[in-house]
Amino acid sequence: MTSADLFARARQLIPGGVNSPVRAFRSVGGAPFFVKSAQGATLTTADDRELIDFVCTWGPAIHGHNHPLIRQAIAAALERGTSFGTPNPLEVDMAEMITRFVPSIQKVRLCNSGTEATMSAIRLARGFTRRDKIIKFSGCYHGHSDSLLIKAGSGALTHGNPDSAGVPASFARETIVLPYNDAAAVEAAFAAHPGEIAAVIVEPYPANVGLILPLPGYLAALRAACTRAGALLIFDEVMTGFRLAKGGVQEIEGITPDLTTLGKIIGGGLPVGAFGGRADVMDHLAPLGPVYQAGTLSGNPLAMAAGIAALRLLETENPYERLAALGRQVRDTLLDATRAKGLPAQVPQTGSMFCLYFSAKPVHSYADALQSDAALFGRFFHACLARGVYLPPSAYEACFLSTAHEGSMIDRACERMHDALLSL
Ligand SMILES: *Cc1c(COP(=O)(O)O)cnc(C)c1O
Repeated sequence: MTSADLFARARQLIPGGVNSPVRAFRSVGGAPFFVKSAQGATLTTADDRELIDFVCTWGPAIHGHNHPLIRQAIAAALERGTSFGTPNPLEVDMAEMITRFVPSIQKVRLCNSGTEATMSAIRLARGFTRRDKIIKFSGCYHGHSDSLLIKAGSGALTHGNPDSAGVPASFARETIVLPYNDAAAVEAAFAAHPGEIAAVIVEPYPANVGLILPLPGYLAALRAACTRAGALLIFDEVMTGFRLAKGGVQEIEGITPDLTTLGKIIGGGLPVGAFGGRADVMDHLAPLGPVYQAGTLSGNPLAMAAGIAALRLLETENPYERLAALGRQVRDTLLDATRAKGLPAQVPQTGSMFCLYFSAKPVHSYADALQSDAALFGRFFHACLARGVYLPPSAYEACFLSTAHEGSMIDRACERMHDALLSL
């Protein structure tokens, strides 16, 4: 069965043929391919093509696909059963690892996705502060819950609907949306809503609108503004957690948030989310406190086993410097080739994350990102795909590297991307 056959069947049965919109290739044109297996840095499609993968399952696969140690951990857990509906020992091991790696997390609650983590962290912040409003930043994506799907990035932006139908206007009114990297806007919002703002939620490095890095002092200004106003600072590190450093962006930037949300890498490729932070805040959760949150499959033993194996590998290998070298190699390749071709380009890169904006101006915000040439990105995407390199099918997504890209794989990928840029 080819990708075309599968997609034709899928479209009859699944809206748009996909279970997550950005997979549909709408913004780059063409039809998505189906993947039948993945190994290391490569995907094998239903059409038997091998693609070097820079999506890495949208972030989780930092060790590459189907890593033997993660596979073994899942297999061992499988022998003992798939779900117990009671506490299991692996949940405690996972909680110990997370709190050890991320010191601002004194207590943690595990759930099943990043969306659940951010949705629950917001509810907790509201319950703790007894305030209703939250601040988020345009272009930051925090999953698809109602309060957060306003001026969101990722698939919402790619498909031109960063504000979703179905979100009541009365809910949206409780979400104040500000531009990222504008500390004065945050000060002004706190001044305009004294005693009303429960929390500021931010992707410390926004990575669902391409990749945006903070201006010097910006994250510290958010921390100070929240502390002054008695609001909680929530770092959404679902994407960045464990990707750039064991302690996340908060370790790199030296900022202590009140709450942190995690996902992606901590599941080792299985569905997991987590939120945690100050013990006095976390103790407002049921069964200790009045803020309700629950999950039939939360702390699932297979997911815990996979995630613990992934985190252990990060601890034993400490691959961050190696990954950053790969990131710099890709960045230099993209900059050289766009310069040679005379194309306007910005290549933000940090560690194993990067993106390419076809833009003459540095990108510091969502508005800047929208100025980039998305149509040209679509042509670049297809030129790469034709050469066996898979980038995210959107001008507004970050690319990811894994340890499996090391060696000849990264050289081959860089040659092909260079060639793709020169062909535009
Ligand atoms: C992916 C992502 C989410 C949502 O996680 P899901 O597991 O897709 O629900 C939330 N926040 C950020 C920063 C993300 O990158």
